Amino acid sequence: MTESTKYLLSEDRMPKAWYNLNADLPVAAPPPLHPGTGQPIGPDDLAPIFPMAVIAQEVTTERWVDIPEPVREVYRLWRPSPLIRARRLERALDTPARIYFKYEGVSPAGSHKPNTSVPQAFYNQQEGVKRLSTETGAGQWGSSLAFAGSLFGLEVEVFMVKISYQQKPYRRALMETYGATCIASPSPLTHAGRAILERDPESNGSLGIAISEAVEMAASRDDTKYALGSVLNHVCLHQTVIGEEAMMQMEMAGDSPDIVIACTGGGSNFAGLAFPYIRENLKGAKVRVVGVEPASCPTLTKGLYAYDFGDTGKLTPLVKMHTLGATFMPPGSHAGGLRYHGMAPMVSHVKELGLMEARAYHQTECFEAAVRFARAEGIVPAPESSHAVKAAVDEALRCKAEGKAETILFNLSGHGHFDMQAYTDYFAGKLKDTVYDQAALDAALAELPKVG
Ligand SMILES: *Cc1c(COP(=O)(O)O)cnc(C)c1O
Repeated sequence: MTESTKYLLSEDRMPKAWYNLNADLPVAAPPPLHPGTGQPIGPDDLAPIFPMAVIAQEVTTERWVDIPEPVREVYRLWRPSPLIRARRLERALDTPARIYFKYEGVSPAGSHKPNTSVPQAFYNQQEGVKRLSTETGAGQWGSSLAFAGSLFGLEVEVFMVKISYQQKPYRRALMETYGATCIASPSPLTHAGRAILERDPESNGSLGIAISEAVEMAASRDDTKYALGSVLNHVCLHQTVIGEEAMMQMEMAGDSPDIVIACTGGGSNFAGLAFPYIRENLKGAKVRVVGVEPASCPTLTKGLYAYDFGDTGKLTPLVKMHTLGATFMPPGSHAGGLRYHGMAPMVSHVKELGLMEARAYHQTECFEAAVRFARAEGIVPAPESSHAVKAAVDEALRCKAEGKAETILFNLSGHGHFDMQAYTDYFAGKLKDTVYDQAALDAALAELPKVG
């Protein structure tokens, strides 16, 4: 084991291919279904909203998918991202555990999301698309797609959940700096938005509603396609650069993880770090793989594994996933990027196969861990990432109690520089551990589509 703090790969060691876990799973994940016919959807069903290259990646069973050179060229602006040994946090916790984190906050948008926004913008540009529409919760995905659109000459239109639009003006300004247009959702621009506003003019919006608006925009305009920042197979695929790099870096460190941890919103940063390790587990390795979600939106720990819509307006195909119900409105929390009713079908499938663990934490305990981390390591975690930090701290304290020198690797999916209001609220004692309404959850689950 070395004395280094940072493990940095040279640019020429950046992965040349993304890893597709679908090639190695013992059982294939259930296919997405057409909501009208109940039959598996084909490429033609998706063609109005996604470019063909992306559709092909959604269904591919190839183990490795080459990263196009123009995408690698953009990745080189910040990749390979650093792997850092959290030595000061280890000392602060007085733990025999070794804690490493992969830091994705070094990207221009401040999170892992450009790992997929860049290839998605590239494939759209290659196929002659002029405009992209999308949704954003806390603004991380909107700014990542705005960044990618600016590099590939695409117009980007972002439907931003209204409560975040009001609370996070700097994220909006970042999108506009990259040349994107940002619209508060629900908006009067779409049928889906108008339908919500008629029922509730004061609606704060939700990711599910904003997805409906963005999908409708793409489906109704020939020059426009839709881009999704999480959940889908191709997004999980693109994020695997994280885990492939981390494996090489752990080798540089002369170490290898006993536990791999990431937060789960739609599941993509978790997939990115964990899927390469799950591949090794399928070949006999024994790494514990842990996904961490908010207790206020506990998709993996409390949701049903069932076919459901990806959006509130019920425009998307049906996908089999852990879900709280497409009409479920999670209570407000500062981890806006984790406030989604569903989970990536691949991550859900991996959970059903027993290849991962899941746990849920409340937001105040996550902020407490994030502040502890910031005071030891200097980096202020995004509220979403703080869930992974909390789990890593808990595992390190367990190691201390058990006197075990295990190796912990977690994904620090982004920095919190645009989320400082959340920290201000935390210090002022204003953060509440919101609990979801069980009756509302039961009602949303009762509305799950019936699939034969
Ligand atoms: C969007 C986001 C997440 C949650 O999305 P996943 O698809 O689950 O990764 C987590 N962390 C940060 C910093 C984000 O921006």
